[in-house]
Amino acid sequence: MSIFEHVEYDGHEQVCFGHDPVTGLRAIIAVHNTRLGPGLGGLRMWPYGSEAEAVTDVLRLSRGMTYKNAMAGLAHGGGKAVIIGDPRRHKSPELMRAMGRFIERQAGCYITAEDSGISVHDLQALAEVTRFVTGVKAHRGPDGEVLTGDPSPATALGVFTGIRTAVRHALQRQDLQGLTVAIQGLGSVGYRLAAHLHEAGARLVVSDINPAPVEQARDAFGAEIASVDAIHAAKADVYSPCALGAAINDHTLPELHARIVAGAANNQLQGPDHGRELHRRGILYAPDYVINAGGVIDVGAQWGEYDAARVRERVLAIGETLDQVFREAESSGEPPEVVADRIAERRFRGP
Ligand code: NAD
Repeated sequence: MSIFEHVEYDGHEQVCFGHDPVTGLRAIIAVHNTRLGPGLGGLRMWPYGSEAEAVTDVLRLSRGMTYKNAMAGLAHGGGKAVIIGDPRRHKSPELMRAMGRFIERQAGCYITAEDSGISVHDLQALAEVTRFVTGVKAHRGPDGEVLTGDPSPATALGVFTGIRTAVRHALQRQDLQGLTVAIQGLGSVGYRLAAHLHEAGARLVVSDINPAPVEQARDAFGAEIASVDAIHAAKADVYSPCALGAAINDHTLPELHARIVAGAANNQLQGPDHGRELHRRGILYAPDYVINAGGVIDVGAQWGEYDAARVRERVLAIGETLDQVFREAESSGEPPEVVADRIAERRFRGP
């Protein structure tokens, strides 16, 4: 396996392989770009089928963090770490401390946080041996609630703000009163987003594989319930994917009814062709890594002296960033995700 020739390598500054014979730790830390500051990105633990799969994942995710952090206006570059292993079977405090020592050896060019397979509790074990971890302390979130690490309220607020911006552009409407938003996935972000939208006067259509939050949203917000395989085609103004990646694919795209796609999920477009096809059909797409950056803004702020008002301000600024993306896309005739990538590259590559 060649690293430098890897299709996802894309000029990474460094890729380190970490091993601890006592705990069996096998991990990779990738730092894509530190021009704007130390690489910030979560630690993922996953039972990868092969080392090659883990390398591909960490490179792709680390590069993605460079773009996301740049667009969020953070003084952070992009980095990511993965542990090869099953979090349900191979995780232990000793393993996390071994990972912490590996991170500490990077001397601050990579700062870690939570991702799939890793909890705040795991990060606390890791923090015993490294300074370079964020999202572990109790703090007050952007809505005033006490949180330990959980960035979901900030993510939901950012998506809500982004939806308002998209509605202004695509529907020439200043408010959400009476508009319908279809939400796929009522988890930590989706449910909070539903609450914001309801408060702003929007009607909701919701769907989840778990019936509990769906029933709760019906009772609390008067939400209409759609089946899991039909939510994308709901008669709505906005479709908000807040569950899994690739929500916009060959099957769902031709059936979309909404004029706007704007949600929290990562990697919403199955491929670049799906972005171009949305654009061709006149459906406005809010690039996922721009609209869902509230979480990383929150976690990045926990790295320093946490200031809830400042975090709220920065999360709300996601609306302005999207506004810039949509305006540039309108004048250049390109899809918004192409424009977003270019703006991010201008920021982290410099003149
Ligand atoms: P979560 O796991 O709390 O919620 C996901 C919800 O989607 C769950 O309720 C699950 O039952 C539901 N779901 C799964 N498959 C579904 C399907 N096929 N149809 C309908 N519902 C389905 O996750 P979350 O923290 O709310 O994050 C949601 C998405 O946003 C994820 O893609 C995540 O990567 C992304 N994201 C989250 C954050 C954050 O701060 N939590 C930040 C950035 C991006």
